[in-house]
Amino acid sequence: MNQAGIETFKSTCSYCGVGCGVVVEKNSKGQIKVTGDENHPVNRGMLCSKGMNLHYTVSDKSDRLLYPSMRWARHQPRRRVTWDTALDRASAVFRTFIDKHGPDSVGFYVSGQCLTEEYYTVNKLAKGFIGTNNIDTNSRLCMSSAVAGYKKSLGEDSVPISYEDIELANCFFITGANPAWCHPILFRRIEAHKEKHPDVKIIVADPRETKSCALADLHLQLNPGTDITLYHAIARCLIENGRIDKEFIQEHTDGFGDFREQVMEKPLEESASICGLEVSEIKQAAQWIGDANGFITMWAMGLNQSVDGTDKNLALINLSLITGQVGKPGSGPFSLTGQPNAMGGREVGGMASLLSSHRDLGNAEHRKEVAKRWGVDSIPAEPGYTATQMFEALRNGDMKAIWIICTNPVVSLPNSALVDEALEKAKFVIVQDISKRSETVDYADLVLPAAGYLEKEGTMTNSERRISYLNKVVDAPGEALPDAEILCRFARKMGYHGFDFDSASDIFDEHCMMTGGTNIDITGLSYEYLKQNGTVQWPFPKNAENDTPRLFTDKQFYTPNRRAQIHTQKTAQPEREGEDKPLVLTTGRIRDQWHTRTRTGKVNRLNQHIPQPYVEIHPQDAQNRKITDGDVVEITNDRGRVRVQATLSKNIKPGVVFIPMHWGKILKKDFPRANNLTSSRVDPVSKEPDFKYSTVEISKF
Ligand code: SF4
Repeated sequence: MNQAGIETFKSTCSYCGVGCGVVVEKNSKGQIKVTGDENHPVNRGMLCSKGMNLHYTVSDKSDRLLYPSMRWARHQPRRRVTWDTALDRASAVFRTFIDKHGPDSVGFYVSGQCLTEEYYTVNKLAKGFIGTNNIDTNSRLCMSSAVAGYKKSLGEDSVPISYEDIELANCFFITGANPAWCHPILFRRIEAHKEKHPDVKIIVADPRETKSCALADLHLQLNPGTDITLYHAIARCLIENGRIDKEFIQEHTDGFGDFREQVMEKPLEESASICGLEVSEIKQAAQWIGDANGFITMWAMGLNQSVDGTDKNLALINLSLITGQVGKPGSGPFSLTGQPNAMGGREVGGMASLLSSHRDLGNAEHRKEVAKRWGVDSIPAEPGYTATQMFEALRNGDMKAIWIICTNPVVSLPNSALVDEALEKAKFVIVQDISKRSETVDYADLVLPAAGYLEKEGTMTNSERRISYLNKVVDAPGEALPDAEILCRFARKMGYHGFDFDSASDIFDEHCMMTGGTNIDITGLSYEYLKQNGTVQWPFPKNAENDTPRLFTDKQFYTPNRRAQIHTQKTAQPEREGEDKPLVLTTGRIRDQWHTRTRTGKVNRLNQHIPQPYVEIHPQDAQNRKITDGDVVEITNDRGRVRVQATLSKNIKPGVVFIPMHWGKILKKDFPRANNLTSSRVDPVSKEPDFKYSTVEISKF
């Protein structure tokens, strides 16, 4: 505390996976001010609009859940109860279902916003003690195709690259991402790099002309869903022109022969026609990629959220592998994480198909090792229900109870009608959250108030494997508790040992211990270390002198034979549902909102950017339907309808429409929820849903 009575804390922005450092100042009245941390390696003092307004969301307690509340029957209102009563009920209900229907009758649906310690605790509770792998997360909607892609090609879910590679690259291929809006500070670094080095080439592939295209030397405005064809066409050009790294391919990869054969099957003209591009555009992209000394691919939900998301990831990673652009400065594949701690969640194995510390759930030895460390007999071998499967299981009656933590599936999951029905049919719904604004709270039998950002301590990992410590700065309002503490109290009510942690620091220490001997070893870390030394990129084993900005510098990959795997992909377009509707709907984010607006929707300044939901439509498609700018329109398909204003724009391809995903169920009697229209179809490997391709029709309302 300084002489003016101001206390200063270091923390990390709690919104996106960029992981910007912030400095939080608290005065003697408890008021806080948040600014960018000038000494932080990620953002060097910069913050985007969401980060700059963090203090509003922390200070405004008007929407906060303050006390546990519960109802005994669905037709009754929820009433305030004590924590003891709430957790007695939760444990009694869970115990009854587990005894009667088995451990897989219950499940947890959590969030990439959870801190690592919270993720660790819920994962240990479900897999180790309840005996179910039904613990999944909204990260399934975000990064699971990238995880599957990394595992199949590089051997493990390991982002090879570091942000410092941005300033060392001379060609960027940004595809299926709009970092100018969704990863703004990262994009600022690319902008600054390009400003200093105008010869740096930036290629953006997107069916929409997004803000990121403003920086692009080449915008490949491809047809939705044709990404693999584009990457194959680029690969073909690279191979034909000898712009591949033969030595790297020979010494460090498998599978090139089959891939070459595949990409040579389709003439460039045919690929260009499928993608809706010119052959010359594809050749230009390939030339810049082939000429680059440092080549970075960047992608996000545009690739991941697809029925062929894993294949899209693999096809893109192949471009880095055949050019030998991995494990060296300024190069590599770089998936942009959506949420601030999606990566931390994966580190603890916090998904239905994962195991602690990147161990393999399908490996009996790995399960045995984790069980031994947790002091339990076994870990179930079969993957649990993934995000969409969990809600299908609730609807079908296979799952009876769900515990939803820090996420709002009623707005964010695809095929909303199914989600509404699932929560209505569920026998017991627990919602643990900070905000009454979450539409999912309406379905809860038991509501548990959680402490929010800056109200608890813990750690997060950003897109570049950087672990940061987040300070507790203010007290949580009412009786709200940190999520990990709620889960530990519940575990003790269930009679489970192993949850007597004295602090979040103890949980982190146990997680670090679990990583020993794995590729993500962080046994050298502790809260003390992070507080004294700042952020650290894993791995960081005990006695390590430095952290690890870049992986695979020795070209030894994490596959069994240490060679990267070049895979072939299906080139035919995957079967799509509802082809009778003429327009393709793609959904996504806008600059100043975050997820379902439970926090950003409270901030007037952020709402001013784009104050209401809309559908973006090409003027030609609008004219065919007699729609003019600002008209209220209804977008429909077999799953539901959305009613919003039309925004006419030539930035979108004819035949494609876009609706932002942020708005909830009903807004002034309108139906703005984009997911009324999306389907539950998922990628067969990653189980990530497709939010980027639903067929729809539009008419004036
Ligand atoms: Fe926060 Fe992401 Fe903006 Fe950085 S870029 S300030 S982490 S929202």
